[in-house]
Amino acid sequence: EGLVKHFQVGTGFMAAQKQVVHAVDQVNLAVRQGEVMGLVGESGCGKSTLGQLALGLLKPDKGRILFQGREITGLSRKKMRDLRREMQIVFQDPVTSLNPRMTVESILSEPFKIHGLGSKRERAQKVARLMEDVGLRADQARRYPHQFSGGQRQRIGIARALALRPKLVVADEPVSALDVSIQAQVMNLLASLKKRFGLTYLFIAHDLSVVRHLSDRIAVMYLGKIVEISSAKGFGEGPIHPYTNALIQAAPVADPHIKQPPPPLIGDVASPINPPSGCRFHTRCPKAMDICSKEEPGLKEKEPGHFMACHLYA
Ligand code: SF4
Ligand code: MG
Repeated sequence: EGLVKHFQVGTGFMAAQKQVVHAVDQVNLAVRQGEVMGLVGESGCGKSTLGQLALGLLKPDKGRILFQGREITGLSRKKMRDLRREMQIVFQDPVTSLNPRMTVESILSEPFKIHGLGSKRERAQKVARLMEDVGLRADQARRYPHQFSGGQRQRIGIARALALRPKLVVADEPVSALDVSIQAQVMNLLASLKKRFGLTYLFIAHDLSVVRHLSDRIAVMYLGKIVEISSAKGFGEGPIHPYTNALIQAAPVADPHIKQPPPPLIGDVASPINPPSGCRFHTRCPKAMDICSKEEPGLKEKEPGHFMACHLYA
């Protein structure tokens, strides 16, 4: 609710020109129990920051974070550690997120150790089960991360996130670093684990086609702001935010006979340092009007469940 997170940049001899990155600016977002909320936007739009705020891994400058009705903003470290069992993250890069000096067995038993759960033998059994849950063989746990392929390493990252049977999983670009041929397998795994364990996902991606399959609802983010929230079903049909439209146009189509229409985006993503006035998208929007650079459009419900921040639909 009302989340704001700004970062100071500029150090050393640049310190005199300290600048502020508006990573997340006045964001409201609710993820319902049992759903997959897709969060899309170009890189640098604040998606990962928002995901980390949601898990209490970052503290917001302003606003509140609630988990199952309970405010977690400002909880003590100890209380946060207990809650962490229920909220986990899967990172984008399975190579850097797994300690290369630890066997997969120790990586996966770490969460149990931290929380003081089970005897050594019980932990080993749990690790074996986790390996199988994510489609790996239990005896492979004796190996080190580098002895696995990228897709297998991401399976290990997912197993680690699921070790403590969380309720909410923030998946931050979980397939972006993988070969396209492997992406679908990992997506299918995430979908089946969700069903099996009754998980809730906040699923972050820059690639709309990835998010669309799995999500129940989709939130679109641009330069620190949510500009559209809609159900995944009717996504892209009917009234649509110009930025969302641009993302759809830019999504690659897997058919060599279809000519890609040129993306209707003008120019580069504006900087999150001193973001544009009014609607932050106005510097690139093909539909921009006079009012767009002057007034910021609020996120309003245009039809049931469909929220949009755009003067076109005022
Ligand atoms: Fe484009 Fe204006 Fe809508 Fe922003 S408010 S998306 S600039 S039409
Ligand atoms: Mg990111």
